[in-house]
Amino acid sequence: MATAAPRIGDTKVPMSLLEKGAYINYQRIEDNLAIVRDRLNRPLSLAEKIVYGHLDDPHGQDIQRGVSYLKLRPDRVACQDATAQMALLQFMSAGMDTAAVPTTVHCDHLIEAQIGGVKDLARAIDINKEVYDFLATATAKYGLGFWKPGSGIIHQIILENYAFPGGMMIGTDSHTPNAGGLGMVACGVGGADAVDVMAGLPWELKCPKVIGVNLTGKISGWTTPKDVILKVAGILTVKGGTGAIVEYKGPGVESLSCTGMATICNMGAEIGATTSMFPFNSRMSNYLNATKRGDIAKYAQQFAHNLKADEGAEYDQHIEINLSELEPHINGPFTPDLATPLSKFAEEVKKNNWPEELKVALIGSCTNSSYEDMSRSVSIVKEASAHGLDVKSKFTITPGSEQVRATIERDGHIAAFENVGGLVLANACGPCIGQWDRQDVKKGEANSIITSYNRNFTGRNDANPATHAFVASPDVVTAMAFGGSLTFNPMTDSLIGSDGKPFTFSEPRGDELPPRGYDPGQDTFQPPPTDRASVSVAVDPKSDRLQLLHPFAPWDGKTPTDLPILIKVSGKCTTDHISAGGPWLKYRGHLENISQNCLIGAINAENNTANKVKNQMTGEYGGVPQTAAYYRDHGIKWVVVGDHNYGEGSSREHAALEPRFLGGLAIIVRSFARIHETNLKKQGMLALTFANPEDYEKVKPSDRVDILGLDSFAPGKNLTLVLRHEDGSKEEVPLAHSFNEGQIAWFKAGSALNLVIFF
Ligand code: SF4
Repeated sequence: MATAAPRIGDTKVPMSLLEKGAYINYQRIEDNLAIVRDRLNRPLSLAEKIVYGHLDDPHGQDIQRGVSYLKLRPDRVACQDATAQMALLQFMSAGMDTAAVPTTVHCDHLIEAQIGGVKDLARAIDINKEVYDFLATATAKYGLGFWKPGSGIIHQIILENYAFPGGMMIGTDSHTPNAGGLGMVACGVGGADAVDVMAGLPWELKCPKVIGVNLTGKISGWTTPKDVILKVAGILTVKGGTGAIVEYKGPGVESLSCTGMATICNMGAEIGATTSMFPFNSRMSNYLNATKRGDIAKYAQQFAHNLKADEGAEYDQHIEINLSELEPHINGPFTPDLATPLSKFAEEVKKNNWPEELKVALIGSCTNSSYEDMSRSVSIVKEASAHGLDVKSKFTITPGSEQVRATIERDGHIAAFENVGGLVLANACGPCIGQWDRQDVKKGEANSIITSYNRNFTGRNDANPATHAFVASPDVVTAMAFGGSLTFNPMTDSLIGSDGKPFTFSEPRGDELPPRGYDPGQDTFQPPPTDRASVSVAVDPKSDRLQLLHPFAPWDGKTPTDLPILIKVSGKCTTDHISAGGPWLKYRGHLENISQNCLIGAINAENNTANKVKNQMTGEYGGVPQTAAYYRDHGIKWVVVGDHNYGEGSSREHAALEPRFLGGLAIIVRSFARIHETNLKKQGMLALTFANPEDYEKVKPSDRVDILGLDSFAPGKNLTLVLRHEDGSKEEVPLAHSFNEGQIAWFKAGSALNLVIFF
């Protein structure tokens, strides 16, 4: 009797030691690729293999790099605490009792650095109690993993516990690509995408182009993995990776540690890349073994043929980097793609008049907080200490996770940092996301800081637009803390020890992995309880930070007539104009409160003023959100008219939720930024464009409008906008749209989520 050939899927390996019953699905990749190879008939890059291996419909999907939109089935979802609030509230309103894929929530963004890890954490737990309570109970109720405040930064926790070669993950944070260090396609998304995947809907992604970075030579000395991405950022600039996956390859890869590869992928977000990734190799196996995931390493080995590019795979762009010749770099200020080799940096500092004194040196963050990073920094610290030196600049250390913190504490590294004047902060984002109560300079005072973080746009770390923030490896940052000046080159310049003798730093050395194994530290993980039915989600009805959501009403089937124009927007209207950040961020979990910022930054074409529009019912002028709420509360739907590229900027879903919540029906513009257009559709709004962009000029802010054709709403079929001018005259203009059948169903149901709830 013939026996069936063994299949890769016959072996069941859990995605994570922390989750039961969720297994790595290499069989799907194998099966999908068999179909896709047949169709494309060409060698595939690694990125293509993993992306196409997660296609929802490998037979029918149109696959053209940079052109088609793919529907994908990610393996898992990760959310950080700031973005998780609205994502969970939306998911809850879908009425499902568990997420369709394994999902975790991480408390890392809301902890402000002030005086040191322990006290800062205690204060954050107090201030953010209701948010943490909500996240803890909502995750428990819906079967998600919850990482408590103090557990660490989302991307380190993912690398330590959840990332695996060949997996696909989306995360509501832009540095989700960190998991590419373990061979995962991991992409940062807005909350709306996360909710879709949690609710069992496919995730849509423009078929990525692939940029190949061939690494040759060997990394050594002062050069670190961080310098690879600092160099790549200099080559590609902040926009160069847009719409592409950066795929690293070549013999040089073997000289990088797994956490070093994660650093490179992490900061790939700074070049706008969809994600970055590495092929599976022995360094990944070492890391998986060290984090007690030897079974995954073995399984990936069996699947290794699909965890690397095919011979002859073609790339849309190619970059060559010889690691043996790569110099350490320092990037900045104010942008992460201004790359300067260390040997030229002092000259640039003087030439550009950047403040020479180095005020603060900060190491850690999700980008550079591995055991290897910390142990290399400690080698520098110990050498300086042996010469009797303390740091000249302020020096902070952010461990990426409780596991790293406990391990470096056990191994004496924390004591070594503190011994030279270092301040160890909480295992959290802290100064990297501006959660920094910085006291040493006044707002507006020009000064320099250097970090091992990833992003250095104006004001990001300390809200001071005059702070010149530079980015470098933790090695360079640490050494410069002793030099105290931006012009200090630790490779060549000497310092004077306490004995009065000059010395030059030796090359940093460190351990890729802790020789005595990782110390897990305190248990900061809350798995879903067995009895989830009895959990009630903690949302205080009086809270001003959290509010439960109610499903939006379905379309009433009527032709909309006589609608007022809430605002005719003139010029640029980004998601920041539609839903401002800053002080509003604390209301991210409260739709009613955050809606008070709806379109307050948009310029009214009628009076060239922001947040001053005429209420067409009362004739009075008022704020945009107040006027919208008036219409809604009087049963009147309204529209917004906008210019080109409406909704560009970050993909925040609040910019689509707010107009919907305030009773808007349609946003009619010359053109949309694509993600915002999709977000509007997901919330049940009509996202429409003038078929002739010049028709925007025909609209008068005081017009009333009808939208004709919704009774036969169909893909590719124009609608008609009737403009009823104040003087009694009437004009009709054609409206185009990009709704497909599925998206029309979202509109009719009231939102994409309503389809899951009601149908
Ligand atoms: Fe984002 Fe910085 Fe936190 Fe990393 S450490 S997740 S880059 S805020």
